[in-house]
Amino acid sequence: MPLPAPYGTGITPMAIAKVEPLLTARALRGPFDYALPERLAGVGVGSVLVVPFGRQRVVGVVVEVAESSELPPERLAEPLEALEAGATPELVRLGLWVAREYCSTPARGLELVLPPGVGRAGRGAAARTEVLAKLTPAGRAALEDGTRLGPIQRAVITALAGVEGELAAGGLQAAGADLAALRRMEARGMVELRTKQRARRPAIVDVGARSSRPALNAAQSAALSSITGVIDRSEHAELLLHGVTGSGKTEVYLAAAEAVLARGRGAIVLVPEIALAPQTVSRFASRFGDGVALLHSRLSAGERRDEWHRLRSGEAMVCVGPRSAVFAPVRDLGLIVVDEEHDPSYKQEGDPRYDAREVAVRRAQSAGAVLVCGSATPRPESWDRLPRLELPERADGIALPEVDVLDMRTTSGESGPLHAQTVQALSQIRDVRGKAIVMLNRRGWSPFVSCRSCGRGWGCPECDVSLVVHKGSGRLRCHHCGHSEALPESCPDCGSVTLARHGAGTERVAELIGEAASPLPVFRLDSDSAAPAGAHLEILRRFEASDAGVLVGTQMVGKGHDFPDVVLSVVLDADATLRFPDFRSEERTFALVAQLAGRSGRGPKGGRVLVQTLAPEAPAIRHAAMHDTAGFLTTELERRRALGYPPYSHLVRLEFGAPESARAQDAAETAHGRLAEVLPSDVQMLGPAPRFRLRGKHRRQLLLKAPEREGVVTAVRSVVDELAAGRTLRGISLSVDVDPQ
Ligand code: ADP
Ligand code: ZN
Ligand code: ZN
Repeated sequence: MPLPAPYGTGITPMAIAKVEPLLTARALRGPFDYALPERLAGVGVGSVLVVPFGRQRVVGVVVEVAESSELPPERLAEPLEALEAGATPELVRLGLWVAREYCSTPARGLELVLPPGVGRAGRGAAARTEVLAKLTPAGRAALEDGTRLGPIQRAVITALAGVEGELAAGGLQAAGADLAALRRMEARGMVELRTKQRARRPAIVDVGARSSRPALNAAQSAALSSITGVIDRSEHAELLLHGVTGSGKTEVYLAAAEAVLARGRGAIVLVPEIALAPQTVSRFASRFGDGVALLHSRLSAGERRDEWHRLRSGEAMVCVGPRSAVFAPVRDLGLIVVDEEHDPSYKQEGDPRYDAREVAVRRAQSAGAVLVCGSATPRPESWDRLPRLELPERADGIALPEVDVLDMRTTSGESGPLHAQTVQALSQIRDVRGKAIVMLNRRGWSPFVSCRSCGRGWGCPECDVSLVVHKGSGRLRCHHCGHSEALPESCPDCGSVTLARHGAGTERVAELIGEAASPLPVFRLDSDSAAPAGAHLEILRRFEASDAGVLVGTQMVGKGHDFPDVVLSVVLDADATLRFPDFRSEERTFALVAQLAGRSGRGPKGGRVLVQTLAPEAPAIRHAAMHDTAGFLTTELERRRALGYPPYSHLVRLEFGAPESARAQDAAETAHGRLAEVLPSDVQMLGPAPRFRLRGKHRRQLLLKAPEREGVVTAVRSVVDELAAGRTLRGISLSVDVDPQ
């Protein structure tokens, strides 16, 4: 209802929708005002509208509803229509927060919180409906009283007369009736038709050990009551659930979710890439049935849409999914779980480069919910900041396996990528017909190839990296861009045919292990072998079903699943990740090794772990071998403090890319100059520093280290917006990464 005009002003108060168009141009300064006519009275914050925008029609999101506008009424356009779907006001605030906090645009932030498929492109997948038909008394009479009926009509009425209630229109096709025929019968009053929404539920796949519902042990109960205590006080709190793999963290998540449900509230459970967490997903699904919704990118558009709406409507109160599920429209949120909170996949690699763990903190705060971050190998940030709940032992009471560190510096170059003890342990596996897992975080046959005569190497034409030999496909591949070329037979520079392949990746190691453990089957799991849809789970399932064998692969083998009958785990080149020039190298290496070590010997047969490395003294390796998370994190936090890295600072990375290095350099220098003027004085700025060329782009980087986050983010945002509005960034790709991983 329009309000009556106040006397004398001549201004008619009306409802104004402030709309952010879903256009990503950085220079756009929304939101824009639209007058809401009475027919759109139901529109509120979160509604999705189609609005006239210049000469276009664009989709936009209502971010505020106001009573007046600074624009005169005659300059206000009306929205063209309101789409059925929309986000909640809470989610709109969250989306805008993400846009601000990660220096992105409102449109990109809002797209995260809209129903799947609604976005710049349009309105998303339609609801799947089915038409149901029911016989009317008139229809029943028509069969008996000699009314003239066609053969199809007679068949339909006969079919409907034979059932109680309704039949799906699809089922009447056998009688020759299509929907048009049914509509004609409806017009004659012989049947009643109604349309019903049918939800598509994603299939849930099982892999790995199945679980019943155990009574919680003392440590689990204590953790649970800390969590429920906070829920009952309706407070916001963040907790770290620290427990080795198999200590029963997932049981605690399940029980905590049950506890919030019992209090009429909802829960979000974040897992790393969903393909790597099938067991967690299926445990939630079997505990909560239709009360749980799954949201991830592998679902069909229709499934995603339906799951989203089941949450929005409150039909499902628990959502399980990867990082994007932090934006799920769960009602009355009481709990957010971040499982394997150390996992790098919680960071989004495209704009906005949000960190789902930070978004979870924000969302839990505003919802008054509890945030539980769980891991066997927590991040230094979490260890430093969060109160801890400890599960010190495995739920099955079995001790953690012994870990042997094998020093690869002492082996001769001849012996190849496997240490003699590793070969021996694998042959024992063969003799007892057991199972083993071997991890090497490098795929392909060998990481580079060179000419033995002239030393020529093979690099990617688009990136400054070596091409990796893939023997199975007979190609050299770039692991950064997708470029590939045929394996060379001779050197194009000197004509020599003696080419050397250096080092080993999973492909080669799988073949070597096939020889060492023959005749046991070897299963290779890496992003090459797992590329076809469903292949990932299929490989794990075959390994699980096999009574003996070796699973060889990248870090994918060390995540999520639980095979109690694995008695040997091997990490090859454990320090490979330490050689990356990145302040998180130590933490990554520790997590990789400790996770695999913690996953071995989870059954009654016990287990053994071998870690091959060139850096046996590195703290990350030493502490991982002792299963000493606390020791590692203490050392690592000291190092971070000395170097001024997170959690003792906040980092922002700006990266400028251009086809010519001079242009990338110019843009970086311009930004450097502007930033130097506006950054708070306690922010340290490093660069412009060159980064290796990627996908044909020369890159320059600026790295900002700030003691406090707010000031640096605000300054960066203003400079980026200013540069985007001017000419500096023309033809330049810029990425802004707050809290880079
Ligand atoms: P995590 O998530 O820490 O790896 P899980 O919750 O998956 O640990 O538990 C590991 C295994 O131990 C599972 O098979 C689970 O069913 C079982 N388990 C967990 N808690 C208990 C318990 N209190 N009593 C018996 N078995 C348990
Ligand atoms: Zn050569
Ligand atoms: Zn490349």
